[in-house]
Amino acid sequence: MAAPGLWPGMGRLLEMPAALRRMSRPYSTFQAFAEVLRLPKQQLTKLVFPLQDLERQLVPDSKSELHLKIFDPNLEEIARAESIFTATPRNRIEYLSSAERLDHAPDLPRPEVCFIGRSNVGKSSLIKALFSLAPEVEVRVSKKPGHTKKMNFFKVGKYLTLVDMPGYGYRAPEDFVDMVETYLKERRNLMRTFLLVDSVVGIQKTDNIAIEMCEEFALPYVMVLTKIDKSSKGHLLKQVLQIQKFVDTNTQGCFPQLFPVSAVTYSGIHLLRCFIANITGNLKTDGIQFS
Ligand code: GDP
Repeated sequence: MAAPGLWPGMGRLLEMPAALRRMSRPYSTFQAFAEVLRLPKQQLTKLVFPLQDLERQLVPDSKSELHLKIFDPNLEEIARAESIFTATPRNRIEYLSSAERLDHAPDLPRPEVCFIGRSNVGKSSLIKALFSLAPEVEVRVSKKPGHTKKMNFFKVGKYLTLVDMPGYGYRAPEDFVDMVETYLKERRNLMRTFLLVDSVVGIQKTDNIAIEMCEEFALPYVMVLTKIDKSSKGHLLKQVLQIQKFVDTNTQGCFPQLFPVSAVTYSGIHLLRCFIANITGNLKTDGIQFS
C-alpha cells in the first residue's frame, strides 16, 4: 500500500483540482480528493484504506488474514479514478434507463458492472456515494411492496455502465432469480458483480441466494461490506475476519480482497471507485496482482 505520508506526487495533487473543489463543496467535505489528501495520515488511511486501518488492530501473526495487498493502488492512481466519476460537460454521468428483463436492457458497448444485495443492505446509499461527484444523478429507489423492481442503468462517461439491480429479500427471491439470473448469465459486457453484505450483521441466509448464483455461473464478483461506520472497530474487525474466512474457504469466483465502505463517512468509496475504474479497463494501476 502506498504510504500516504510518503507519496512524492502529493504536493502537485494538492494544487490540482481547484475547480473540482469549488464545484463539489456544497455536497460533501470529502468529495474533492485534494481535500482528502490534506487530512492527517491516520484519518486519511481510515477514509481511503479502511481495511488497512483495521489491519492495525490485528496481532502481527494474523496480519496475513486480510488480503489487502491484492488491489493496492497509490494515491495518485486513486485521484485519477476520481476524474472518471466526476461529472463535467465532457464526462456525462447520468441515469440511462430501467429494464424489467434483459431483452429490455439498453444495448451498450461499454464495460458494465452491477451491484446486487438484499433489501436494506445499503445499495442505493452506496451508489449515491459512488456518484457523489455527479450530484445531478438521480438514483431511483423503488421500495414500495408490489412495486415492480427493475434494473437501473447509469452511464459513467465513455468509460462504463453501472447497473443497480433490484434488491432481494424475504419476499423477492423469485423476482430476483428470474430477472437477475438471466442478466448475470447472459450479459456479455458484464465485467464484475459487486455483492453487498451488511458489515453489522455479516452474511445472512438471503445473501447466500446471490453468492450461490455467482458461484454457480462462475462469475467474477467482489464482496463489498456496507455501513462500516455503524460498528465499533472490534466488532467490525470480527465481522471482516469472519467474512474473509468465508470467502477464502467457500468461494471460487469471489475476489479475495474485501471492500469495506460507508455511505455516511465515505470511507472506502474512493478505493472502490478506483477498483471499478481498474477492472473495467479504464485505469491501469501498478498495484493489482490479479483480477
Ligand atoms: P437498499 O435497500 O439496499 O437500497 O438500502 P438503502 O441504501 O436504502 O439503506 C437502507 C438503510 O440503511 C437506510 O436507512 C440508510 O440510511 C442506511 N444506510 C445505508 N448505508 C449506510 C451507511 O453506510 N451507514 C449507515 N450508518 N447507514 C446506512
